[in-house]
Amino acid sequence: MNLSELLAYQSRKYPEKEGVVTLDERLTYAEWNDKVNQFARAMMRLGVQAGEKVVIHMPNTKEFVISYFAIHRLGAIAVPINARLVANEVSYIYEHSDASVLLTHELVFEQVSQLADEKSGTFIKTGAPEQRWHAFAEIMEKEEPTELVNDAHEDEEASILYTSGTTGAPKGVIFTHKNILTVSSMMAVELEMKPSSRMLHIMPLSHSAPLHLFLAGGTFVGATHVLASMFTPDLMLELVAKEKVSHFFGAPVAYLMAAKHPKVTETDLSWVKYWTYGGAPLSKTEVEFVREQLKTDSLCCLYGLTEAGPSGTLLLPNEHDKKAGSVGKRAALHCEFCILDEQGKEVEKGEVGEIALKGEGIMKGYYKDEQKTKDTFREGWLLTGDMGVKDKDGFLWVIDRKKDMVISGGVNVYPREIETVLLQHPHIEDVAVVGVPHPDWGETVKAYIVQTGQINHLETECHTYLEKQMAGYKIPKLYEEVKELPRNATGKLLKHRLREQARHV
Ligand code: ATP
Repeated sequence: MNLSELLAYQSRKYPEKEGVVTLDERLTYAEWNDKVNQFARAMMRLGVQAGEKVVIHMPNTKEFVISYFAIHRLGAIAVPINARLVANEVSYIYEHSDASVLLTHELVFEQVSQLADEKSGTFIKTGAPEQRWHAFAEIMEKEEPTELVNDAHEDEEASILYTSGTTGAPKGVIFTHKNILTVSSMMAVELEMKPSSRMLHIMPLSHSAPLHLFLAGGTFVGATHVLASMFTPDLMLELVAKEKVSHFFGAPVAYLMAAKHPKVTETDLSWVKYWTYGGAPLSKTEVEFVREQLKTDSLCCLYGLTEAGPSGTLLLPNEHDKKAGSVGKRAALHCEFCILDEQGKEVEKGEVGEIALKGEGIMKGYYKDEQKTKDTFREGWLLTGDMGVKDKDGFLWVIDRKKDMVISGGVNVYPREIETVLLQHPHIEDVAVVGVPHPDWGETVKAYIVQTGQINHLETECHTYLEKQMAGYKIPKLYEEVKELPRNATGKLLKHRLREQARHV
């Protein structure tokens, strides 16, 4: 079994069933599979071979899902990247992954058009052909859709995903076919996906949760994939209702935007069986707000990271009443979790340590970084870099990322705790708390704040507000008002940039 065979199998089983839906087109599983054969043949004709790395720089479009499976059909290695990345970011990954092919889309072509002049390789884009760029549809249409078979073993490498680079430079994470099929089947079971399920893909398919859990997971059962090339809360609500979506995955920020959108009250969202979120925390207050606005009790939290496929833990819909804000007490199917101390010993309930995961979905390793791979595993456990604690009922709470933890005067301070409290202030819109060097205490806590303009004395206001809610040693000693915070293409905070900035002040 491999990813190419997964789609081929479903096209034999459900040839007439709707496989892919875009704003202006609908493909059955048979049509989707035919196009995959045609595009795989077209790449072969251009000299692309098994084992070569192919970068996909495309938004969620039919060309993305055709390319992804065509690469696997050829036995090549897919390197999907966020379509919002610009030339220098794409160039870094193209070089680092040793790719020889770059596929892009006319919607984002301008961002990377120069690369074909700078690099060697094969360059393919949708829309009209241009110098050094082959036209996707044109080369594909010349080919026969006759079935090509890839009999790759499940242990062969299938793709490299780059982490979002929240904590530094993006890292290339290698997955085998087995890793991906494990997490996709896991999600299909956990979220009760069926051939009649309809998945909405509005988060970038270049990331592990949308790609492995929902695209591969939905394909595992022959579900229908509805593709949206960009996120807006308006489009999200419209597509859920129009396409009768049963499974949705979004980052917390997508939920908050949809919940605040005026259309939310008049849209029929009752089709959705699982509203899943992950990639960042959603606090108890936010969960309550989203549940109320979306009129649902089917919120489901996924905790994981790219390196884990992302398998990890789940907080099920019925557990949200009592444990919203935690990430559940059960690891997903095919996965285990524990919390380890610095020596690698499991900690007691209530004690903070590093969350570790084990399972068949976990990456093979980091591309071209054996040392980092070695350092990330401890006796078969993947060290997540997340600090967590199990409460008395066994529920796991992610406290913060280990790299973001501040050690001030020998005491650990977790910025996420301070951020959660500050975000509840009515005049604070966004906040990032980081550790900055201090001559006596090693580090001190600094808060970067975006406010509504109604706070006159930021420092005094924040201090007085926090004093009532937490111990003095956690309260930031430094404050800076900013217009916006640095975030990456998926909206995650880039705290390393703030730390660098603070070091140079
Ligand atoms: P990089 O490794 O380059 O810094 P990244 O870690 O942001 O990038 P991802 O793998 O997308 O890339 O992020 C995984 C991290 O997101 C986890 O380690 C955890 O810190 C956080 N996370 C994921 N899901 C949840 C969740 N449900 N609740 C809280 N935090 C979460």
